[in-house]
Amino acid sequence: MIIYRGRVFTPVSDPFVSGEQPAWAYFRGGYVAVERGKIVSIGDWKTRSERIAGETVDFGSESLLTPGFVDTHLHAPQVEMIGSFGGHLLEWLERYTFPTESRFADPEHARRVGSFLFRELLRNGTTAGMIFSTIHQEATDIFFEEAESAGFRGIIGKTMMDRNAPEYLLEDAEASYRGSKALIEKWGKHPTLRYAITPRFAPTSSPRQLELAGQLKKEHPECYVHSHVSENKAEVAWVHELFPDAPHYVGVYDHYGLLDSRTVLAHGVHLTDDEIALLAKRGGRVAHCPNSNLFLGSGLLPLRRLLEAGVLVGLGSDIGAGTTPSPFNAMADCYKVQQVRGDVLNPFQLWYLATLGGARVLSLDDRAGSLEPGKDADFLVLDLQATPMLEARTVHAESIEDLLAGLIFIGDDRVVRKTFVQGREVSRRI
Ligand SMILES: [Zn+2]
Repeated sequence: MIIYRGRVFTPVSDPFVSGEQPAWAYFRGGYVAVERGKIVSIGDWKTRSERIAGETVDFGSESLLTPGFVDTHLHAPQVEMIGSFGGHLLEWLERYTFPTESRFADPEHARRVGSFLFRELLRNGTTAGMIFSTIHQEATDIFFEEAESAGFRGIIGKTMMDRNAPEYLLEDAEASYRGSKALIEKWGKHPTLRYAITPRFAPTSSPRQLELAGQLKKEHPECYVHSHVSENKAEVAWVHELFPDAPHYVGVYDHYGLLDSRTVLAHGVHLTDDEIALLAKRGGRVAHCPNSNLFLGSGLLPLRRLLEAGVLVGLGSDIGAGTTPSPFNAMADCYKVQQVRGDVLNPFQLWYLATLGGARVLSLDDRAGSLEPGKDADFLVLDLQATPMLEARTVHAESIEDLLAGLIFIGDDRVVRKTFVQGREVSRRI
């Protein structure tokens, strides 16, 4: 057993649901005891049980131990095109994204980008994430290998597209089905990696391709479905033109059997009440990517409306329309977007969305997302004095709520001193 000491904060339940129990636990002089990659116990160091004994690593009171962050939506191939500016969603895809993704026909390029990306995510404190690849089978296979070698908990899928994109990024529906199936057979039963059936979004898949995606889901119900929905108004209008018989955008995915509790749809900014109700009924989840929504001018998510309808929502960086992988930025931008909408979120709610809430969205909460006995030891050591500004701010923090707020709005990758996944140190600040 190894016992890590420092301040310890973890969400333990949903702070959007008001109840008598606090939705979190905090120990100023705390500890996390880890054995064989799992959390055995957490609590107050002074009142620990006698059974908590072993090697002790004390990070001091300037450190905060907290769960690894969960990024519910990002694009691996887009990491090097962050900040490509100008244009809303559809022109941005044409102008920057499609040419960038075409380069992943080259396996060496995929290797280089994959190797960089997963280490970068861990360095930023993200220990789990749901990830788009490109249409290329080999590049996707390489992303799986790189996630595995970095120690990242990834849910990855080969993008499916057979229309409305440049010829060089299209693949006929049957070939896309076969390529996805081969990857499911190779990676579907991995201990920490998972496969997501990944049609890019309804406009770039023919009805035949969506039908085959639905067939894959039927053949492999344990697989996730990862796509986009209702990000931008022009996109929504286009979906209505392309699928005139569908009741709405969410209805397209539902028609092809792509909607259940393993479905994660990015954005959902402009969803109607009927769509939200259908998502809730099927158990579908939404990845909220506030940085990306601001960058592409897509709109402001009615977060509370989704949560109150019973739709689970997590945070996503949406690299490369999002401009940083940092979960601190995702929390800060989430706060600001809701502020503009007139809904004030508190730091516990933001931290929950980025950790346990995200793990629930990805159905990983039985093993990740919070520091609780029996879960995998996926945790971070945050440095509360990482920068002069942070130190000036945290010294005066009067409560854990205030401390978290300081981290959310001032924190970035420099705060993350160490990252552990399954009790193994997978990243350390140099
Ligand atoms: Zn996206």
